[in-house]
Amino acid sequence: MNRSRRVKILATLGPASSNEDMIRKLSRAGADVFRINMSHASHEILRELVRAIRNVEKEFGFPIGILADLQGPKHRLGTFEGGEIDVAPGQAFVLDSDPSPGNKERVCLPHPEILEAIEVGHRILVNDGKVQMKVTDTGNGWVKTEITGGTWMADRKGVNLPDSELMSGALTDKDRKDLEAVLKEEVDWVALSFIQRPKDLIEARELCQGKVGILAKIEKPQAVQRLDEIIELADAIMVARGDLGVEMPLEMVPSIQKKMIRKCRNAGTPVVVATQMLESMISAPVPTRAEVSDVANAVYEGADAIMLSAESAAGDYPLEAVSTMNSIAEAIEKDKGYLTTIESQRPSPDATAADAISFAATEIAHTLDLAALVCFTASGSTGLRAARTRPTKPIIALSPVPETARRLALLWGTQCIITPDATDLDNMVDTACEVAFREGFAKSGDGIIISAGVPLRTPGSTNMLRIAVIDEHGKGSVHKSTG
Ligand code: PGA
Ligand code: MN
Repeated sequence: MNRSRRVKILATLGPASSNEDMIRKLSRAGADVFRINMSHASHEILRELVRAIRNVEKEFGFPIGILADLQGPKHRLGTFEGGEIDVAPGQAFVLDSDPSPGNKERVCLPHPEILEAIEVGHRILVNDGKVQMKVTDTGNGWVKTEITGGTWMADRKGVNLPDSELMSGALTDKDRKDLEAVLKEEVDWVALSFIQRPKDLIEARELCQGKVGILAKIEKPQAVQRLDEIIELADAIMVARGDLGVEMPLEMVPSIQKKMIRKCRNAGTPVVVATQMLESMISAPVPTRAEVSDVANAVYEGADAIMLSAESAAGDYPLEAVSTMNSIAEAIEKDKGYLTTIESQRPSPDATAADAISFAATEIAHTLDLAALVCFTASGSTGLRAARTRPTKPIIALSPVPETARRLALLWGTQCIITPDATDLDNMVDTACEVAFREGFAKSGDGIIISAGVPLRTPGSTNMLRIAVIDEHGKGSVHKSTG
């Protein structure tokens, strides 16, 4: 399958999309990576979904990425006597550790450690910010607040604490159990929710032992503040606009998104834009004009991937949502201004052989109008550096390691193909040409540029560039001018 789209599509699986047939359809419609939300999926469902995705992968013959999203320290209210209450701005309201059902004056916040972290003056937001409280007093196991906005609360609504620095790490007991289950499956990425500080990633990295890539969801102001350090440590980043828009003023989200994408592109760290991209398609077969514009913006900004949440997980039109996202991305990428914009934001190479070679390959492919850049990558790092240059020509990443190919499915402009280890340089050139031809990226007479590290399978050894021309049999011949 030749997918010419540069930006990748991440589709969340859920009740609307959990059977193998639907996964097959979503994949065919353009989903490159599937997200399994561990807030909702049991370990059994996780196992079944991974099995179904791997079946589809085998059938289609190209690597599919799987992201397991850990719930993180998402806080919720306890319950109320009648299931819900009405409140009014100006009234007092108490959150405490008493597990008995709440009433108009109080409710349980069943997280003793966060009751302790909350200080006078902090804001408490309930139900995606629809109810706002300001803390007026605190004591042992309780905080007193004044309702400053909103009129209604109900059982187990989510609670956001934008001002409080929580001492707990990003992994809860549930996350640890979920992570253990995830690491037993063929999963490629793990997303960490509500991280606050670089330390949260270090802890997760130790547990993961390199088995999965670590994606840091940026959805707390504390994480936005320490973005540079977090980008440095994470394997990928998500602009988690849902909770970010609750914890920070909504009008700040677009500029934070732009800043995050710019920083990630500079660092060469894949970045995903998430939440409400086609929200109205949960219940309608067509999106709003504003949503189309939102998807288009993320594509113009050069994000690696754009994500669907409830649209593909729980909506009435999961398939339409994926194909709509695909059509928007394809249309934007055909716009002449698109590649010019992306190219004009190309960061400079780091002073390493790998980067110098990636940049040279990108330049040469453009100057000579070659059909594709082919890179051999065992660990994935050559692929990451190639994508960082955002070349005007497609990147084909060849890897003998299926886990690497799957992980790179998230990466901008990169088509990953699993190939056996190349035996020598000639074999490498032949393989590159054959794959580029077979996968429809190049036809006879087209040139490609190949980058690799020799000796093969030595991480960080990228040191070779070769131009080859596809012959009439779809095989390679080395370009004359390079000898
Ligand atoms: P969630 O994360 O969907 O798991 O909450 C994404 C977001 O907050 O935007
Ligand atoms: Mn979130």
